[in-house]
Amino acid sequence: MHLLKFPRSPSSFGNAFFLVGHHVLDIRVFRKNQRCFRASISCSAVRNGSIEQLSDARLIYSVAPSMGHNQESHPESHFRVPAIVNALEEMQLTSKFRGPEVIELQHFEPASVDDIASVHARAYVSGLEKVMDQAVEKGLIFLDGSGPTYATATTFQESIVAAGAGLALVDSVVACSKIKGDAPTGFALIRPPGHHAVPQGPMGFCIFGNVAIAARYSQRVHGLKRVFIIDFDVHHGNGTNDAFYDDPDVFFLSFHQDGSYPGTGKFDEVGSGDGEGTTLNLPLPGGSGDTAIRTVFDEVIVPCAQRFKPDIILVSAGYDGHVLDPLANLQYTTGTYYMLASSIKQLAKDLCGGRCVFFLEGGYNLKSLSYSVADTFRALLGDRSLASEFDNPNILYEEPSTKVKQAIQKIKHIHSL
Ligand SMILES: [Zn+2]
Repeated sequence: MHLLKFPRSPSSFGNAFFLVGHHVLDIRVFRKNQRCFRASISCSAVRNGSIEQLSDARLIYSVAPSMGHNQESHPESHFRVPAIVNALEEMQLTSKFRGPEVIELQHFEPASVDDIASVHARAYVSGLEKVMDQAVEKGLIFLDGSGPTYATATTFQESIVAAGAGLALVDSVVACSKIKGDAPTGFALIRPPGHHAVPQGPMGFCIFGNVAIAARYSQRVHGLKRVFIIDFDVHHGNGTNDAFYDDPDVFFLSFHQDGSYPGTGKFDEVGSGDGEGTTLNLPLPGGSGDTAIRTVFDEVIVPCAQRFKPDIILVSAGYDGHVLDPLANLQYTTGTYYMLASSIKQLAKDLCGGRCVFFLEGGYNLKSLSYSVADTFRALLGDRSLASEFDNPNILYEEPSTKVKQAIQKIKHIHSL
């Protein structure tokens, strides 16, 4: 296997490489004025005869592990993405083992400043780039008022690469959906995570809002008007919430542990102005698990999405709701994540031509994180779940079913579901 390299000019062309089975195919993504035109993707891809192969895939993923962005013994560490990739390799879920069913985007452009600034204040973006000098000098710094969120010498560069990994998946999934009705699903194995980063700055281990940036990119570059974001991280995705609070074209739906960081995401946070009703926050009581989430999916997520009629579904996929995760107190299992992934994939197939991209958010127990992502991959590939080989039902306790039921009734009433 060899990677083809193209000369890079500062503003004209970007390249994406697709690993199809053992062959690397190049798809040149044409950019002009920092914008990527989907017609050019199709043309260039067809030129290589590779878009059909790409659209034959069931799952396309990208990897941005941000190895330089790391603080010793911090839970949001550079061990996370390699742990997932190793597990995927061991369980034979990567392109090396799955042939044309699974494609890894090998190289992709970092997100541009314009991409980032579609969500974040330009002053924050340029300010972060400037403090990189300090980070180079000191090795590691903490960003003011961020929760605290650390930065190292490579944080800025690695964060724009992570965001770019998500945008490349949006390009691929959208291009495939033009070829056939049921596009492959995307999964961005990236960090630092994004859903706490607010428009004005970083927060809670998050630098840039990867999902929010991809939502704006889907609209601006691909003309997809209505974006439905599902956030199943155990924490409220306050940054994404804030970015679209008054926007009627982006539906943000988060269910999270009541009372957990950062304390936002109450029932009555439903959006404002034109966006009133297109934010849904469902705080769940501690101890909620698989049974609760199945009900949430059927009675809240499905009717919301059906009513909204999205053009694409983006997912903030946090795995810190797992019963083994050290940062929270929910009882999701590996099987819960399998169920969520297969249900979301089906929803995207039913509502928006299969256009759907997952973005890694939290998940800090490396074992439960990697097994759960692996079972997510199985769900997206249509394989059967192997959750029972990992999950131990003996560590689960009774879910607070009355409180869960009350929470679901309350949210259904507020949103007229
Ligand atoms: Zn989280």
